[in-house]
Amino acid sequence: MNNKAMFSLSYGLFVISSAKDGKKNGCITNTAIQAASDPLVLTVCINKANYTHDLVKETGKFSISVLSEEADFDLFTHFGFQSGRDTDKFADFTDYKMEGGLPVITRGTNAYFLCDVVDTVDLGSHTMFVAKIADMDVLNSVPSATYAYYHANIKPQPKKEDAPAGKVVWRCTICGYIYEGDPIPDDFICPICKHPASDFERVTQ
Ligand code: FE
Repeated sequence: MNNKAMFSLSYGLFVISSAKDGKKNGCITNTAIQAASDPLVLTVCINKANYTHDLVKETGKFSISVLSEEADFDLFTHFGFQSGRDTDKFADFTDYKMEGGLPVITRGTNAYFLCDVVDTVDLGSHTMFVAKIADMDVLNSVPSATYAYYHANIKPQPKKEDAPAGKVVWRCTICGYIYEGDPIPDDFICPICKHPASDFERVTQ
């Protein structure tokens, strides 16, 4: 089985947000897709480790902010590389507005959806939330950011000066962090995005 086939799947990128009792949180996903047109239904899969997962499960409501090609790496760092379990991601973040009681990100996004959960499916690592669209709007005409666009244009690219030519290092495929050394320890966790050693690739610079 060639796991690299997974890289051929195409995705958009989104901030999924939810709120309960004044506590707001959001996380980055690549899993929002339209599932039906009549009624308008979409699905989002959220990792159970994410605090947003629990908020969505408890409230049955979430928003999807569609990330555009104007989204900067700071936005991914803010919503994707830290946990709402120990950080209030909206405490020092002002680029959002409240719609229907849910945060909608207004920076680096081009559209949003407000969703009501109608069904859930336990998928192991993730829960699939099946939701009806309560409201949606377009914010601007900037193209949506795909996962491929993120890798090519948004995440930091490895710099040549990071290591001498010919040196073998391990590069995080999620955020671009360089681990100096070879091999990379099995239990290594990326200090920037918290992804495991299995998401690193061995590269010769
Ligand atoms: Fe990383």
